[in-house]
Amino acid sequence: MTVPFLDLKAPYVELKEELDAAYRRVMESGWYILGREVEAFEQEFAAYCETKHCIGVGNGLEALSLILRAMEIGPGDEVIVPANTYIATWLAVTHVGATPVPVEPVEQTYNLDPALIEQVVTPKTKAILVVHLYGQPADMDPINAVAQKHGIKVIEDCAQAHGGRYKGRRAGSLGNAAGFSFYPGKNLGAIGDGGAVTTNDAELAERIRILRNYGSRIKYHNEVVGYNSRLDELQAALLRVKLSRLDEWNERRRLVAAQYLQGLRGQGQFSLPSFPDWAEPVWHLFVVRHGQRDALHKALGEAGVGTMIHYPVPPHLQPAYAGLKFNDGDFPMSGRMAREVLSLPMGPHLTEAESSSIINAIKKVRLASWM
Ligand SMILES: *Cc1c(COP(=O)(O)O)cnc(C)c1O
Repeated sequence: MTVPFLDLKAPYVELKEELDAAYRRVMESGWYILGREVEAFEQEFAAYCETKHCIGVGNGLEALSLILRAMEIGPGDEVIVPANTYIATWLAVTHVGATPVPVEPVEQTYNLDPALIEQVVTPKTKAILVVHLYGQPADMDPINAVAQKHGIKVIEDCAQAHGGRYKGRRAGSLGNAAGFSFYPGKNLGAIGDGGAVTTNDAELAERIRILRNYGSRIKYHNEVVGYNSRLDELQAALLRVKLSRLDEWNERRRLVAAQYLQGLRGQGQFSLPSFPDWAEPVWHLFVVRHGQRDALHKALGEAGVGTMIHYPVPPHLQPAYAGLKFNDGDFPMSGRMAREVLSLPMGPHLTEAESSSIINAIKKVRLASWM
């Protein structure tokens, strides 16, 4: 049996009738930007995230940079970011002209280590941009406590955490504002690009509404230098269908994760994901670590199991950020993760037969230092 890393068509096959109906409804409406579908999605997604406001935007990266712009964070300001994240987290910070200040993760959870934040706070620090990496919520209480003590904002990067909970509360409601991505492979994915901001701050929400639409509240009257970053009607209509299945699909991911955790326990030099009791992860990715990651990746590929590396190069070592003058060896934990992580197939459409065959394929791989 061969198992691809991800089958992006499977959600469409399952929801074909409803998605086709939503598509036709928008086509027939003759209204394609900022209309009823986006408004309805914004209300439904705010309710889902247990926040007062949601603003649909063009993508996840812009959700984050619009939040920073609306908070008036820019040149000369510093934003604390995880050293271990997808580069988009850092891009949002540098797009507004601010400086990313990286902090290492906790080894077991891959997420920002709250104990290391305070030592990098300076008078220039304006915000902490927290990522719930791989769908596991970061430890928000101590992060919010440091932020409160220093009078700085907390922004969540929820691009991998739709529906996750921290101590019973939804990801997206745990800081001053949150950015979501609806890139097709995310837990809530569009059929193209899309994103959203959630917040309980009415004033911030209004500023983002204006910024996403050319800086204008009234057509052709521009209050600020804005952007064109809008979730479109078609994506909103399709996302409404998928949102109605998000909890169920996250539950299916949990079953796959439970099967992996049980089936792979005690397999030699292999680190499995672990999460504290207060975390309700949504398993955007199921990431294991191995000292011979590249050999494992190759061997599984030969056995017909598609795996991926999230992420092979940490942001501080990307050529794009050569100008920030970081060195190999700065943030060694993040460097090590980049060398050791491997993502197994994960999603609501992975069958039990497929996950069993993946577990068996892993057990059959024999690497030099494996047993
Ligand atoms: C996907 C992702 C983003 C960016 O979202 P886009 O919609 O692709 O712009 C940001 N942060 C993280 C952690 C992501 O995984």
